[in-house]
Amino acid sequence: MTRRKPDKSTRHHRKPRFYGGDGTNGNISRVSDKMHKAYHLLFAWAHPAAMVAGILNAQWLCHREVLVPIPTEKLPEVLAFLESIGCPVHEDEIGITDTHRILCSGDEVADDAK
Ligand SMILES: [Zn+2]
Repeated sequence: MTRRKPDKSTRHHRKPRFYGGDGTNGNISRVSDKMHKAYHLLFAWAHPAAMVAGILNAQWLCHREVLVPIPTEKLPEVLAFLESIGCPVHEDEIGITDTHRILCSGDEVADDAK
């Protein structure tokens, strides 16, 4: 019987180092090695969020929805607007992190959470 190796956990820089992303916790996601390689295979050349969203919208997502990157500081305003027009979005469903919440509040982000 062949035993499959567990997929090791790797560090992904949410904002790439070449765009000034650092190694603090808020900029790092722990992802499986397999998923990490797949992400960079698909999106390495197109990091800006709008370009990634464009690819996902054009080829991968249902035409009845559209993925739009929103600057974190505008998130509360956008969520309130969406609710006002009958399209409520729940933060839990869209992957909002504690770092996003801190940035939305206007508070300083501690170095280990940036
Ligand atoms: Zn990465």
